[in-house]
Amino acid sequence: MYKFKKDSYTRNRGGTSTLLKLNCRRCNNLICIYQKDGPGNLYRLYCDRIVYPKSLVENVTNKNIKNLENLCCEKCNAILAVPMIYEKEKLLALRLFADAIEKTKITIKDYENLKSTK
Ligand SMILES: [Zn+2]
Repeated sequence: MYKFKKDSYTRNRGGTSTLLKLNCRRCNNLICIYQKDGPGNLYRLYCDRIVYPKSLVENVTNKNIKNLENLCCEKCNAILAVPMIYEKEKLLALRLFADAIEKTKITIKDYENLKSTK
C-alpha cells in the first residue's frame, strides 16, 4: 500500500497530504499520480512527489534544471509543465500551465486499484 512521503517539506506545507490523479485536459490521458502536500491550488509539481507512473518518476529523479524535460502528454503532445526552481524551498519542480491538467482527488485504495489494472 502506498505510504505518504513525510518530511520537513510536508510539515512546512501544512502537514496533510492527498493523492491527486492528473489527466491531460485536452485528451484526458492519465499523466500521473501526485502527492499534494498542504492546502491550496496546484501550481507546480515537486519532482519527488510524483508517484506514478514509474517511467515518469524515473524521468524526473536526480535531475537538475538543465536536464529536466518539459512534462508533455504522451498521447496528444500538449506541453503541460516546464521545469522551474521553487526559490522558497530551493527545489526542482515542474510549473504547470494554467488549465493544462484536470485533477481528481483519489484515495490510496483508488491508486492501488489503478496500479493493478494498468
Ligand atoms: Zn493529451
